[in-house]
Amino acid sequence: MTREEFADILLPNVEHTRVYYEEKYGKRNLGDGAMVTRLAPSPTGFVHIGSLYQAVAAQKLAHQSGGVCFLRIEDTDQKREVENGIEQIITSLKNYDVQFDEGPLNNGEDVGAYGPYIQSKRKDIYQAFVKDLLIKDLAYPSFLTEEEKEKITEKQKAIKSRIGYFGPWASAERNMSMEEAVEKVRAGIPYTIRLKSHGNFLRRVVIEDCIKGEISIPENDMDHILLKQDGIPTYHFAHAVDDTLMHTTHVTRGDEWISSLPFHIELFKALGYEPPKYAHLATIQKEEDGKKRKISKRKDPEANVLYYTEKGIPVKAVEIYLMTLLNSNFEEWYLENPNRDIHEFTLEFSKMSTSGALFDMEKLLNISKNYLSTLSALEVYQNTLEWAKVYDEDFANLLEKEKDIAIRTLNIERESEKPRKDFAMYSEVKQNIWYMFKENFDNVSYDWQKITDLEEIKHILQVYMDKYYDISDDNDEWFNKVKLLCDELGYASNMKDYKKNPENYKGNVADVSTVIRVALTTSSRTPNLKDIMEILGIDEVKRRIEKIKG
Ligand code: GLU
Repeated sequence: MTREEFADILLPNVEHTRVYYEEKYGKRNLGDGAMVTRLAPSPTGFVHIGSLYQAVAAQKLAHQSGGVCFLRIEDTDQKREVENGIEQIITSLKNYDVQFDEGPLNNGEDVGAYGPYIQSKRKDIYQAFVKDLLIKDLAYPSFLTEEEKEKITEKQKAIKSRIGYFGPWASAERNMSMEEAVEKVRAGIPYTIRLKSHGNFLRRVVIEDCIKGEISIPENDMDHILLKQDGIPTYHFAHAVDDTLMHTTHVTRGDEWISSLPFHIELFKALGYEPPKYAHLATIQKEEDGKKRKISKRKDPEANVLYYTEKGIPVKAVEIYLMTLLNSNFEEWYLENPNRDIHEFTLEFSKMSTSGALFDMEKLLNISKNYLSTLSALEVYQNTLEWAKVYDEDFANLLEKEKDIAIRTLNIERESEKPRKDFAMYSEVKQNIWYMFKENFDNVSYDWQKITDLEEIKHILQVYMDKYYDISDDNDEWFNKVKLLCDELGYASNMKDYKKNPENYKGNVADVSTVIRVALTTSSRTPNLKDIMEILGIDEVKRRIEKIKG
């Protein structure tokens, strides 16, 4: 029996050869230094913030170098898969502004000449390459059952050996004759195909990681599985074939894969290819009780990118924050160039963290606040409306009905040198402007501050409305009138005087304006009161004051 015949028996339904696929997926025509990167998520129903972080990096590195970034769905582990997982990935990444040049679309089609970009559609390709390894005697069928594997593990534990299928433990199957193997195949015994490792654990593989620098780890000597019993490859084998045929120049992925590197390097060697460059990105961590740990899908809601969408944290803010995490000099650049497109920044491997990237929600919200303060009132209105249409229908209806009031309110203290920064997410807009809408202002409770005596409050409001409030006043006039009101009622109109002799006054101008503010909004913390009164209009101002006067 020739090795070709042997390979045919083991993998009988392979349509094409390795050479066919190599010719089909010829070299890319790109300029010098152009990087080809990819994001290779598994469809687990969830886009992890760490994946988005990797996506931002992969996309930026490719595009700033005139290269290509593609999306590849790694769905070879069908146990982990969920329904609509692929659509969720494609939609979430699109919502987060990640632009792939190639990859699968939601309509089932692909963009790009190196597809299919979904691994489950590439079975023939992987099998063609495994067949080639079988022919070259670099792979072999393994009939090992779960129970046998467990027994080996137990024995290994007992003698404190390394755990795994390698060397002497694997020798019986490695050396099995083709005839014996074929007999088992014909008897219907299920089999996987394993790599026939030529590595030596006592030697080391040394690779130059673009981010972490030199990495030196013992060589792989495990006969890992390439094809599972169902003919589907493992991640390891699939990535080596795909990144070769898709001409990935830089594999940017999470550093949890470093321990698999020796196996990957051996795979490329067995396949006869130069491995791509690797750039292992630090995992995103969070600090809890003074300790750092990986952001976890199970424990942390913020691990899921949907969390940010639901809260209404702008995509741009998340992107800016992830760039801040990615490159230590980005923040400085951004502060110096607040009006430049962040894509003009050049991402560098040398400025990436080699250990963990610490995720700081407070910092993200700060970035978001700053970012939102740079938008026009109309933009904030539109984005809030879009968000509310999905997450708060009642508020969306109100925003549509009261568009003018909403935009004017959002514009208070906005287009100025020091714009207001009162919210970090669209979900916080409502709590900041709800009181501006008549329909919300019926059953309200007031957060009175210093002056709490209702008779005094009524008196202040009465005198103010009767003698001092004039809707046509400008800011200075408006405030002067409040001061005059203070003088008349025994409150200090000048803070310095008040501080010198507080006993001479009932209170001060801040206490009095707070009464007016709370009466009109229920809250003591609002944007410019004069603007609020103008937007409410005289009738509504009067109605609100009357409400208190009872
Ligand atoms: N499918 C792998 C994962 O889900 C991707 C690793 C890689 O980028 O190569 O983490």
